Amino acid sequence: MNNHVTVLEIDGSALKHNLHHFKKQLHPTTKILAVVKAFGYGSDGVQIARFLADKVDYFAVAYAHEGIALREAGIKAPILVLHPQIPNLLAIVNYCLEPNLYNFKIFNAFLKVATQTALQEYPIHIKLNTGLNRLGFCTKDVPTLLAQLKETKQLKVQSLFSHLAVSEEIKEQAFTNQQISTFSESAQQFQAGLGYKPILHILNTSGVINYPKAQFDMVRIGIGLYGFGNDEKETNQLKNTHNLKSIISQIHNIEPKESVGYNRAFIADKKTKTATIPIGHADGISRKLGNGIGHVLINGQKATIIGNVCMDMIMVDITTIDCAEVDEVIVFNSQEMIQEIADATATIPYETLTAISQRVQKKLKS
Ligand SMILES: *Cc1c(COP(=O)(O)O)cnc(C)c1O
Repeated sequence: MNNHVTVLEIDGSALKHNLHHFKKQLHPTTKILAVVKAFGYGSDGVQIARFLADKVDYFAVAYAHEGIALREAGIKAPILVLHPQIPNLLAIVNYCLEPNLYNFKIFNAFLKVATQTALQEYPIHIKLNTGLNRLGFCTKDVPTLLAQLKETKQLKVQSLFSHLAVSEEIKEQAFTNQQISTFSESAQQFQAGLGYKPILHILNTSGVINYPKAQFDMVRIGIGLYGFGNDEKETNQLKNTHNLKSIISQIHNIEPKESVGYNRAFIADKKTKTATIPIGHADGISRKLGNGIGHVLINGQKATIIGNVCMDMIMVDITTIDCAEVDEVIVFNSQEMIQEIADATATIPYETLTAISQRVQKKLKS
Protein backbone atom coordinates (compact mmCIF):
# COMPACT_ATOMS: atom_id res chain seq x y z
CA MET A 1 0.00 0.00 0.00
CA ASN A 2 1.33 3.41 -1.00
CA ASN A 3 0.75 6.07 1.66
CA HIS A 4 3.43 8.48 0.43
CA VAL A 5 2.46 12.09 1.22
CA THR A 6 3.70 13.05 -2.24
CA VAL A 7 0.62 12.40 -4.35
CA LEU A 8 -0.25 12.63 -8.00
CA GLU A 9 -3.91 13.56 -8.11
CA ILE A 10 -5.52 12.50 -11.36
CA ASP A 11 -8.41 14.79 -12.25
CA GLY A 12 -11.25 12.60 -13.54
CA SER A 13 -13.40 15.50 -14.68
CA ALA A 14 -10.45 16.85 -16.70
CA LEU A 15 -10.02 13.42 -18.30
CA LYS A 16 -13.70 13.42 -19.21
CA HIS A 17 -13.43 16.94 -20.61
CA ASN A 18 -10.44 15.99 -22.77
CA LEU A 19 -12.12 12.84 -24.05
CA HIS A 20 -15.20 14.85 -24.99
CA HIS A 21 -13.03 17.52 -26.65
CA PHE A 22 -11.73 14.91 -29.11
CA LYS A 23 -15.04 13.04 -29.44
CA LYS A 24 -16.84 16.13 -30.62
CA GLN A 25 -14.33 16.58 -33.46
CA LEU A 26 -14.86 13.00 -34.68
CA HIS A 27 -17.70 11.21 -36.45
CA PRO A 28 -20.11 9.71 -33.90
CA THR A 29 -19.26 6.20 -35.17
CA THR A 30 -15.48 6.57 -34.84
CA LYS A 31 -14.23 4.35 -32.02
CA ILE A 32 -11.92 5.69 -29.35
CA LEU A 33 -8.93 3.76 -28.12
CA ALA A 34 -7.48 5.23 -24.93
CA VAL A 35 -3.73 4.74 -24.65
CA VAL A 36 -2.94 3.89 -21.00
CA LYS A 37 0.62 2.62 -21.44
CA ALA A 38 3.44 3.57 -19.08
CA PHE A 39 1.06 3.63 -16.08
CA GLY A 40 -1.34 5.98 -17.87
CA TYR A 41 1.44 8.40 -18.84
CA GLY A 42 2.97 8.42 -15.38
CA SER A 43 -0.28 8.27 -13.41
CA ASP A 44 -2.09 4.98 -12.82
CA GLY A 45 -3.21 2.90 -15.78
CA VAL A 46 -5.61 0.84 -13.70
CA GLN A 47 -7.40 3.84 -12.15
CA ILE A 48 -7.56 5.57 -15.55
CA ALA A 49 -8.89 2.44 -17.29
CA ARG A 50 -11.52 1.87 -14.58
CA PHE A 51 -12.64 5.47 -14.94
CA LEU A 52 -12.76 5.37 -18.76
CA ALA A 53 -14.07 1.79 -19.11
CA ASP A 54 -17.63 2.82 -20.00
CA LYS A 55 -16.53 5.82 -22.10
CA VAL A 56 -14.13 4.36 -24.68
CA ASP A 57 -14.08 1.34 -27.00
CA TYR A 58 -10.54 0.05 -26.58
CA PHE A 59 -7.46 0.36 -24.43
CA ALA A 60 -3.84 0.06 -25.52
CA VAL A 61 -0.69 -0.63 -23.57
CA ALA A 62 2.85 -1.01 -24.87
CA TYR A 63 3.86 -4.27 -23.18
CA ALA A 64 2.12 -7.48 -22.16
CA HIS A 65 2.65 -7.05 -18.42
CA GLU A 66 0.90 -3.67 -18.55
CA GLY A 67 -2.13 -5.40 -20.04
CA ILE A 68 -1.96 -8.17 -17.45
CA ALA A 69 -2.07 -5.55 -14.68
CA LEU A 70 -5.28 -4.15 -16.19
CA ARG A 71 -6.86 -7.61 -16.44
CA GLU A 72 -5.85 -8.47 -12.87
CA ALA A 73 -7.59 -5.27 -11.76
CA GLY A 74 -10.76 -6.45 -13.46
CA ILE A 75 -10.73 -4.39 -16.67
CA LYS A 76 -12.91 -6.29 -19.15
CA ALA A 77 -12.61 -4.05 -22.24
CA PRO A 78 -10.50 -5.14 -25.23
CA ILE A 79 -6.82 -4.34 -24.73
CA LEU A 80 -4.38 -3.98 -27.61
CA VAL A 81 -0.76 -4.76 -26.73
CA LEU A 82 1.22 -2.47 -29.04
CA HIS A 83 4.62 -4.06 -28.65
CA PRO A 84 4.44 -7.73 -27.70
CA GLN A 85 7.47 -10.01 -27.74
CA ILE A 86 7.66 -13.72 -28.42
CA PRO A 87 8.27 -14.84 -24.78
CA ASN A 88 4.99 -13.14 -23.72
CA LEU A 89 2.62 -14.48 -26.34
CA LEU A 90 1.16 -17.29 -24.22
CA ALA A 91 0.51 -14.84 -21.37
CA ILE A 92 -1.23 -12.57 -23.89
CA VAL A 93 -3.63 -15.40 -24.74
CA ASN A 94 -4.09 -16.42 -21.10
CA TYR A 95 -5.13 -12.87 -20.20
CA CYS A 96 -7.30 -12.28 -23.29
CA LEU A 97 -5.07 -9.50 -24.54
CA GLU A 98 -4.89 -8.69 -28.24
CA PRO A 99 -1.42 -8.63 -29.77
CA ASN A 100 -0.09 -6.32 -32.44
CA LEU A 101 1.70 -8.63 -34.88
CA TYR A 102 4.29 -6.53 -36.66
CA ASN A 103 6.53 -8.98 -38.56
CA PHE A 104 6.57 -12.58 -39.78
CA LYS A 105 8.64 -13.73 -36.84
CA ILE A 106 6.06 -12.72 -34.24
CA PHE A 107 3.17 -13.61 -36.54
CA ASN A 108 4.41 -17.19 -36.90
CA ALA A 109 5.21 -17.45 -33.20
CA PHE A 110 1.68 -16.32 -32.33
CA LEU A 111 0.15 -18.68 -34.87
CA LYS A 112 2.04 -21.51 -33.18
CA VAL A 113 0.67 -20.50 -29.76
CA ALA A 114 -2.81 -20.16 -31.25
CA THR A 115 -2.59 -23.64 -32.74
CA GLN A 116 -1.27 -25.20 -29.52
CA THR A 117 -4.03 -23.59 -27.47
CA ALA A 118 -6.69 -24.42 -30.08
CA LEU A 119 -7.82 -20.83 -30.61
CA GLN A 120 -10.49 -19.96 -33.16
CA GLU A 121 -10.63 -16.50 -34.76
CA TYR A 122 -8.55 -14.95 -32.01
CA PRO A 123 -8.43 -11.15 -32.42
CA ILE A 124 -5.06 -9.91 -33.61
CA HIS A 125 -3.95 -6.53 -34.90
CA ILE A 126 -1.66 -6.10 -37.88
CA LYS A 127 0.65 -3.11 -37.98
CA LEU A 128 1.96 -1.71 -41.23
CA ASN A 129 5.11 0.33 -41.51
CA THR A 130 4.21 3.32 -43.65
CA GLY A 131 7.25 5.48 -42.93
CA LEU A 132 8.02 5.60 -39.21
CA ASN A 133 10.38 2.62 -39.61
CA ARG A 134 9.82 1.46 -36.06
CA LEU A 135 7.41 -1.53 -36.00
CA GLY A 136 5.28 -2.98 -38.76
CA PHE A 137 5.11 -5.15 -41.87
CA CYS A 138 6.46 -3.57 -45.05
CA THR A 139 3.68 -2.95 -47.53
CA LYS A 140 5.43 -5.22 -50.05
CA ASP A 141 4.88 -8.14 -47.64
CA VAL A 142 1.09 -7.64 -47.60
CA PRO A 143 0.31 -10.22 -50.33
CA THR A 144 2.38 -12.94 -48.57
CA LEU A 145 0.82 -12.07 -45.23
CA LEU A 146 -2.69 -12.16 -46.72
CA ALA A 147 -2.01 -15.54 -48.28
CA GLN A 148 -0.97 -16.86 -44.84
CA LEU A 149 -3.96 -15.29 -43.09
CA LYS A 150 -6.36 -16.91 -45.53
CA GLU A 151 -5.09 -20.32 -44.42
CA THR A 152 -5.55 -19.69 -40.71
CA LYS A 153 -8.86 -20.13 -38.95
CA GLN A 154 -7.12 -19.55 -35.63
CA LEU A 155 -6.73 -15.79 -36.13
CA LYS A 156 -9.00 -12.91 -37.03
CA VAL A 157 -7.61 -9.53 -38.07
CA GLN A 158 -9.50 -7.35 -35.62
CA SER A 159 -7.71 -4.25 -36.82
CA LEU A 160 -5.16 -3.00 -39.29
CA PHE A 161 -3.17 0.02 -38.25
CA SER A 162 -0.16 2.20 -38.74
CA HIS A 163 1.51 5.07 -36.89
CA LEU A 164 2.39 8.55 -38.12
CA ALA A 165 5.93 9.88 -37.81
CA VAL A 166 5.34 13.65 -37.73
CA SER A 167 1.62 14.22 -37.21
CA GLU A 168 2.33 17.25 -35.02
CA GLU A 169 4.25 19.16 -37.69
CA ILE A 170 2.19 20.70 -40.46
CA LYS A 171 5.33 21.46 -42.47
CA GLU A 172 5.68 17.71 -43.02
CA GLN A 173 2.15 17.44 -44.39
CA ALA A 174 3.28 15.85 -47.67
CA PHE A 175 5.05 13.04 -45.79
CA THR A 176 2.03 12.41 -43.55
CA ASN A 177 -0.39 12.42 -46.49
CA GLN A 178 1.85 9.83 -48.16
CA GLN A 179 1.71 7.64 -45.03
CA ILE A 180 -2.09 7.96 -44.98
CA SER A 181 -2.48 7.04 -48.65
CA THR A 182 -0.07 4.09 -48.36
CA PHE A 183 -2.15 2.88 -45.41
CA SER A 184 -5.41 3.35 -47.35
CA GLU A 185 -4.14 1.32 -50.29
CA SER A 186 -2.99 -1.54 -48.06
CA ALA A 187 -6.30 -1.41 -46.21
CA GLN A 188 -8.13 -2.03 -49.49
CA GLN A 189 -5.86 -4.97 -50.26
CA PHE A 190 -6.63 -6.40 -46.81
CA GLN A 191 -10.35 -5.99 -47.15
CA ALA A 192 -10.34 -7.68 -50.54
CA GLY A 193 -7.96 -10.41 -49.41
CA LEU A 194 -9.63 -11.21 -46.08
CA GLY A 195 -13.22 -10.97 -47.22
CA TYR A 196 -14.09 -8.92 -44.13
CA LYS A 197 -13.26 -5.44 -42.95
CA PRO A 198 -10.89 -5.00 -40.02
CA ILE A 199 -11.04 -1.85 -37.88
CA LEU A 200 -8.69 0.69 -39.51
CA HIS A 201 -6.72 3.25 -37.47
CA ILE A 202 -3.70 5.49 -37.94
CA LEU A 203 -4.20 8.66 -35.85
CA ASN A 204 -2.70 9.48 -32.47
CA THR A 205 -3.59 12.69 -30.60
CA SER A 206 -1.83 15.13 -32.92
CA GLY A 207 -3.09 13.14 -35.89
CA VAL A 208 -6.66 13.75 -34.72
CA ILE A 209 -5.88 17.45 -34.40
CA ASN A 210 -4.18 17.87 -37.79
CA TYR A 211 -5.58 15.08 -39.99
CA PRO A 212 -9.17 14.38 -38.82
CA LYS A 213 -10.07 13.22 -42.37
CA ALA A 214 -7.86 10.18 -41.74
CA GLN A 215 -9.82 9.05 -38.67
CA PHE A 216 -10.93 5.82 -40.45
CA ASP A 217 -12.77 3.61 -37.89
CA MET A 218 -10.86 4.37 -34.69
CA VAL A 219 -8.31 6.83 -33.23
CA ARG A 220 -5.68 6.20 -30.56
CA ILE A 221 -5.56 9.01 -28.03
CA GLY A 222 -2.82 9.23 -25.43
CA ILE A 223 -1.29 12.57 -24.51
CA GLY A 224 -4.47 14.46 -25.46
CA LEU A 225 -6.42 12.66 -22.74
CA TYR A 226 -3.79 13.87 -20.30
CA GLY A 227 -4.14 17.50 -21.37
CA PHE A 228 -1.63 18.18 -24.13
CA GLY A 229 -2.21 19.08 -27.78
CA ASN A 230 0.41 20.02 -30.38
CA ASP A 231 0.58 23.65 -29.44
CA GLU A 232 -0.48 26.11 -26.79
CA LYS A 233 -3.75 26.93 -28.51
CA GLU A 234 -4.84 23.29 -28.58
CA THR A 235 -3.50 22.61 -25.08
CA ASN A 236 -5.50 25.57 -23.76
CA GLN A 237 -8.69 23.83 -24.87
CA LEU A 238 -7.74 20.79 -22.81
CA LYS A 239 -7.66 20.44 -19.03
CA ASN A 240 -4.74 19.34 -16.93
CA THR A 241 -5.15 15.85 -15.49
CA HIS A 242 -1.88 15.38 -13.57
CA ASN A 243 -1.54 17.38 -10.33
CA LEU A 244 1.58 16.63 -8.31
CA LYS A 245 1.49 17.68 -4.66
CA SER A 246 3.50 17.23 -1.52
CA ILE A 247 3.99 18.83 1.90
CA ILE A 248 6.77 20.61 3.74
CA SER A 249 8.65 18.15 5.95
CA GLN A 250 10.96 20.63 7.68
CA ILE A 251 11.98 24.31 7.66
CA HIS A 252 15.54 25.53 8.35
CA ASN A 253 16.89 29.01 8.98
CA ILE A 254 20.30 29.25 7.32
CA GLU A 255 22.97 31.79 8.19
CA PRO A 256 25.17 33.46 5.52
CA LYS A 257 28.00 31.11 4.35
CA GLU A 258 26.11 27.98 5.45
CA SER A 259 25.42 25.43 2.72
CA VAL A 260 22.37 23.37 1.77
CA GLY A 261 22.36 19.81 0.47
CA TYR A 262 24.82 17.45 -1.16
CA ASN A 263 28.13 18.75 -2.43
CA ARG A 264 27.33 22.03 -0.64
CA ALA A 265 25.97 23.14 -4.02
CA PHE A 266 24.05 26.03 -2.41
CA ILE A 267 25.89 28.51 -0.19
CA ALA A 268 23.74 31.21 1.45
CA ASP A 269 24.87 34.80 0.82
CA LYS A 270 22.29 36.07 3.30
CA LYS A 271 19.94 34.76 5.95
CA THR A 272 17.84 32.18 4.09
CA LYS A 273 14.81 30.12 5.05
CA THR A 274 14.55 26.71 3.39
CA ALA A 275 11.89 24.02 3.19
CA THR A 276 12.62 20.34 2.65
CA ILE A 277 10.05 18.56 0.45
CA PRO A 278 9.70 14.75 0.26
CA ILE A 279 10.11 14.42 -3.51
CA GLY A 280 13.35 13.76 -5.36
CA HIS A 281 14.84 12.39 -8.52
CA ALA A 282 13.60 8.89 -7.62
CA ASP A 283 10.07 10.32 -7.76
CA GLY A 284 10.60 11.90 -11.18
CA ILE A 285 12.06 15.31 -10.38
CA SER A 286 15.00 15.69 -12.75
CA ARG A 287 18.35 16.66 -11.23
CA LYS A 288 18.46 19.27 -14.00
CA LEU A 289 15.87 21.22 -11.98
CA GLY A 290 18.28 21.79 -9.09
CA ASN A 291 20.37 24.86 -8.38
CA GLY A 292 17.80 27.53 -9.12
CA ILE A 293 16.32 26.08 -12.31
CA GLY A 294 13.03 24.63 -11.08
CA HIS A 295 10.47 25.79 -8.55
CA VAL A 296 7.38 24.63 -6.66
CA LEU A 297 4.41 26.65 -5.40
CA ILE A 298 3.82 27.17 -1.69
CA ASN A 299 0.79 29.21 -0.65
CA GLY A 300 0.61 30.44 -4.24
CA GLN A 301 4.21 31.71 -4.33
CA LYS A 302 7.20 30.40 -6.27
CA ALA A 303 9.82 28.65 -4.14
CA THR A 304 12.99 27.96 -6.12
CA ILE A 305 14.82 24.64 -5.78
CA ILE A 306 18.21 25.32 -4.20
CA GLY A 307 21.20 23.01 -4.27
CA ASN A 308 21.13 19.57 -5.83
CA VAL A 309 17.99 17.50 -6.20
CA CYS A 310 18.45 14.49 -3.88
CA MET A 311 17.05 11.02 -4.52
CA ASP A 312 14.21 11.49 -2.02
CA MET A 313 14.04 15.23 -1.35
CA ILE A 314 14.44 18.75 -2.64
CA MET A 315 15.16 21.90 -0.67
CA VAL A 316 13.47 25.12 -1.74
CA ASP A 317 13.95 28.78 -0.84
CA ILE A 318 11.03 30.09 1.23
CA THR A 319 12.78 33.20 2.60
CA THR A 320 9.95 35.49 1.47
CA ILE A 321 7.08 33.00 1.76
CA ASP A 322 4.78 32.82 4.75
CA CYS A 323 4.47 29.09 5.39
CA ALA A 324 4.91 26.38 8.01
CA GLU A 325 5.93 22.76 8.29
CA VAL A 326 3.27 20.39 6.87
CA ASP A 327 1.87 23.10 4.53
CA GLU A 328 0.93 21.96 1.03
CA VAL A 329 3.42 22.16 -1.83
CA ILE A 330 2.37 22.16 -5.50
CA VAL A 331 5.00 20.66 -7.79
CA PHE A 332 2.72 21.19 -10.78
CA ASN A 333 -1.00 21.67 -11.30
CA SER A 334 -1.26 23.10 -14.81
CA GLN A 335 -0.09 22.28 -18.30
CA GLU A 336 1.93 25.50 -18.18
CA MET A 337 3.92 24.29 -15.18
CA ILE A 338 4.48 20.88 -16.78
CA GLN A 339 5.63 22.54 -20.02
CA GLU A 340 8.00 24.80 -18.01
CA ILE A 341 9.56 21.73 -16.39
CA ALA A 342 9.82 20.00 -19.78
CA ASP A 343 11.49 23.08 -21.30
CA ALA A 344 13.88 23.49 -18.37
CA THR A 345 14.96 19.86 -18.67
CA ALA A 346 15.23 19.91 -22.49
CA THR A 347 12.39 17.45 -23.03
CA ILE A 348 8.67 17.21 -23.81
CA PRO A 349 5.63 16.77 -21.53
CA TYR A 350 5.43 13.06 -22.51
CA GLU A 351 8.72 12.48 -20.66
CA THR A 352 7.97 14.84 -17.76
CA LEU A 353 4.71 12.98 -17.06
CA THR A 354 5.97 9.44 -17.55
CA ALA A 355 8.96 10.21 -15.31
CA ILE A 356 6.65 10.38 -12.27
CA SER A 357 7.67 7.20 -10.54
CA GLN A 358 5.84 4.35 -8.87
CA ARG A 359 6.87 5.67 -5.46
CA VAL A 360 4.47 8.61 -5.76
CA GLN A 361 0.96 7.84 -4.51
CA LYS A 362 -1.70 8.09 -7.25
CA LYS A 363 -5.28 9.14 -6.51
CA LEU A 364 -7.97 9.61 -9.13
CA LYS A 365 -10.66 12.08 -8.10
CA SER A 366 -13.79 11.74 -10.20
C1 LIG B 1 1.89 5.92 -27.62
C2 LIG B 1 1.16 5.64 -28.89
C3 LIG B 1 -0.02 6.35 -29.22
C4 LIG B 1 -0.51 7.54 -28.42
O1 LIG B 1 0.13 8.70 -28.91
P1 LIG B 1 -0.21 10.16 -28.34
O2 LIG B 1 0.67 11.04 -29.14
O3 LIG B 1 0.14 10.14 -26.90
O4 LIG B 1 -1.67 10.38 -28.58
C5 LIG B 1 -0.73 5.94 -30.34
N1 LIG B 1 -0.30 4.92 -31.11
C6 LIG B 1 0.84 4.24 -30.85
C7 LIG B 1 1.27 3.15 -31.75
C8 LIG B 1 1.62 4.59 -29.74
O5 LIG B 1 2.76 3.93 -29.49
